[in-house]
Amino acid sequence: MAEAKPKPKIKKEAVEMPKQAPKERVKNFNEVALGYTEAQALEEAGRCLQCVKPQCVSGCPVEVPIPEFIKCIREQKYGEAIAKIKEKNSLPAVCGRVCPQEEQCQAKCLVGKIGQPVSIGRLERFVADWERENGFQMPEKAKPTGKKVAVIGAGPAGLTAAADLAKLGHDVTIFEALHMAGGVLVYGIPEFRLPKKIVQNEVNYIKKLGVDLRLGYLIGRIHTIPELLKTGYDAVFIGSGAGLPQFTDVPGENLGGIYSANEFLIRVNLMKSYKFPEYDTPMRIGKHVVVIGGGNVAMDCARSSMRLGAEVCLLYRRSREELPARKEEIENAEEEGLVCRFLAAPLRFIGDEKGWVKAMECQAMELGPPDASGRRRPIPVPGSEFTMETDTVIIAIGQTPNPIIQRTTEGLLVNPKHGTIIVDENGKTSLDGVYAGGDVATGAATVISAMGMGKKAAKAIHEYLMNKK
Ligand SMILES: Cc1cc2nc3c(=O)[nH]c(=O)nc-3n(C[C@H](O)[C@H](O)[C@H](O)COP(=O)(O)OP(=O)(O)OC[C@H]3O[C@@H](n4cnc5c(N)ncnc54)[C@H](O)[C@@H]3O)c2cc1C
Repeated sequence: MAEAKPKPKIKKEAVEMPKQAPKERVKNFNEVALGYTEAQALEEAGRCLQCVKPQCVSGCPVEVPIPEFIKCIREQKYGEAIAKIKEKNSLPAVCGRVCPQEEQCQAKCLVGKIGQPVSIGRLERFVADWERENGFQMPEKAKPTGKKVAVIGAGPAGLTAAADLAKLGHDVTIFEALHMAGGVLVYGIPEFRLPKKIVQNEVNYIKKLGVDLRLGYLIGRIHTIPELLKTGYDAVFIGSGAGLPQFTDVPGENLGGIYSANEFLIRVNLMKSYKFPEYDTPMRIGKHVVVIGGGNVAMDCARSSMRLGAEVCLLYRRSREELPARKEEIENAEEEGLVCRFLAAPLRFIGDEKGWVKAMECQAMELGPPDASGRRRPIPVPGSEFTMETDTVIIAIGQTPNPIIQRTTEGLLVNPKHGTIIVDENGKTSLDGVYAGGDVATGAATVISAMGMGKKAAKAIHEYLMNKK
């Protein structure tokens, strides 16, 4: 009997992605992670087991056929690899950069049981970047159905719903309040994590699918949803996100030098205040910045502030273990010089004679039993007050949906506590023909969960339109 050939050994370590050195990158807004070379992508793709029953796909909210696209990379068929991804995901260059793969597809990868999981996100980014350099391939579209759909908001949820509906043959118009499409991808996530040109390239692909994109169009002011439905639209998808900042409600919050994360990030990233006066948006930032919060938004504020020349302290009321930001981003921030002060919360902001913040009184916390979020509840420690000097504070403790659409649409049911629009499992709201998805329905979540909801709603809208008399 012939001897069985020994199986090639899988390397336990994933291929590292080259990055700008911390000392260098903290002085610029260029992208930190530089992407795989072709040789690195081929080596990493070679670590995939090509499982017959792949678990990774079930970990992806939009079910990208992961082993299939990785197989195409191994065969150096990059055009086929990107086509496979785009069967399910219209924003692969974005997802390859900012998706929390470590909690999703990569968490389920079998190679992860013997070493580091296959770097699915980095491989997705590699083929998406390959396509950007080599030109789009457009997918086949269904015949026009004669049905019109209005999509509100050009964030990941709206863009995904619009792309899927356009591919199904519907006439889609996106109404976007800002002057640029992308939602948080352009107004929140900084250039050094996700360059605007990458987002605009994905938006261009969606426009090429025939989607009409109208910018500077605030629904609830220029038109309301009932008006859209009366003036020729057969269905509406609401993907207006969660752009309303939450505040701490501690005394002194209105002092100068205290920003919400939204305002700070919009000014710095979208309006490019880091290039002032070349760009006409000034930004007053001091030398000692305190960022309050511990999620991705807080990390982005902290890392942007360091790039503007400040020393930054992150104040978080739980411990390091509970930090909700992506692990990779916490490590990046610490390499760049971020100092963290855990188990502490603000009690009051103290101003100078001109009304600018100069210090914060804080209190130490300890962790009690888990709260409704499943995380251990922070409890103030009596007599533990302390003062921190600061000249700029950025509050990054969460966002809720802006209520303008909810207030101008009679009969649209909203969760009274969180302001989110109530939807069923297909994204249908309380109104006929009106669907919603993404952060406006879930509260602040992730890019891929918003995209997953956009996809589900597009499918449900298609069925609704095709059965509509
Ligand atoms: C700073 C920051 C960093 C983040 N980092 C990550 C990360 O690393 N990974 C990750 O997965 N997630 C991250 N997130 C979360 C993620 O970006 C969001 O969950 C996601 O963008 C939600 O998508 P969306 O389409 O529902 O909403 P949004 O992206 O908020 O888009 C909504 C769009 O609707 C528009 N709009 C709102 N109201 C109206 C109206 N009345 N009329 C017309 N248009 C309107 C808005 O201008 C916006 O363009 C981050 C969020 C922030 C704020």
